[in-house]
Amino acid sequence: MSVLFERVSIVGLGLIGSSLARAMKRHGLAGHIAGHARTAATRETAMALGFLDSVHETPAQAAAGADLVVLCVPVGAYAGVGRAMAPALAAGAIVTDVGSVKQAVIRDLGPILPAGVHFVPGHPVAGTEHSGPEAGFAELFQGRWTILTPPPGTDERAVLRVSQLWRACGSDVEIMDAGHHDVVLAITSHLPHLIAYTIVATATDLEEATQREVVKFSAGGFRDFTRIAASDPIMWRDVFLNNREAVLEVLGRFSEDLTALQRAIRWGEGDKLEEIFTRTRAIRRGILDAKQA
Ligand code: NAP
Repeated sequence: MSVLFERVSIVGLGLIGSSLARAMKRHGLAGHIAGHARTAATRETAMALGFLDSVHETPAQAAAGADLVVLCVPVGAYAGVGRAMAPALAAGAIVTDVGSVKQAVIRDLGPILPAGVHFVPGHPVAGTEHSGPEAGFAELFQGRWTILTPPPGTDERAVLRVSQLWRACGSDVEIMDAGHHDVVLAITSHLPHLIAYTIVATATDLEEATQREVVKFSAGGFRDFTRIAASDPIMWRDVFLNNREAVLEVLGRFSEDLTALQRAIRWGEGDKLEEIFTRTRAIRRGILDAKQA
């Protein structure tokens, strides 16, 4: 494939940043890939893994001369990183990101970026419970969706170029309003993580003898929650702090539905339980049909 950007800067070299760099390298999408991460250890590991052309100590050094900058740090770090790199951004450069929430990102980063720089917020809906540069792989975005949430008035050519990048990495692209994105992801991703964190935390509060059995018999369902609950604590702390309203809204609905289930069990309403479980089984079939399993 042909080069889409001459110089790309990836700021944040963990699971997502390193996967994107690997995919860009594999498909020859960038003339040069410059990287930055906070710690020297991550910078050295990333360089040794071979998916970067250069690594830099500061966000500004990495962003200098780039025609595309991709922020791949936890969303709570955006304002600091944005301020640090803003003076180095060239007019006409495109800044995009991969953050799991979008309204807060537009709020935090939008005003910091200099005039003439195009901001195209994005979110690849793909991931694993692993973190760091070693965890990434080039196929991560293959067959997954990337949602772009350009604010009204965003340069259309910049949106097109970011779409081309994700498509070249194997992803499908959908354009969405940032507020709508945050509600959709609150139900499909943020709430499931919150539930998994709760179930695993509840199990670890049980007395020791029961705890041992939780691990031993985890294949009964618990195991699947532990995978999700092993996700990066900093990333998820920042997701909940930055998508507060939407998460609280879906959590309220969820609590009502849980109470309804509790009632059905208490009053022996088997028909009701069966009806709900039949409906939910159909959702799983829909996900399999959409090849998102
Ligand atoms: P990760 O594996 O933990 O990597 C985070 C990277 O950001 C590390 O290289 C870290 O560097 C760097 N970093 C953190 N704070 C920084 C700062 N202040 N300045 C410079 N670098 C900093 O995280 P990830 O899973 O790739 O997530 C990155 C972003 O992708 C998040 O915004 C997340 O919401 C989004 N996302 C994640 C997933 C997922 O499933 N994980 C899916 C879609 C989107 P050090 O190692 O040096 O600290």
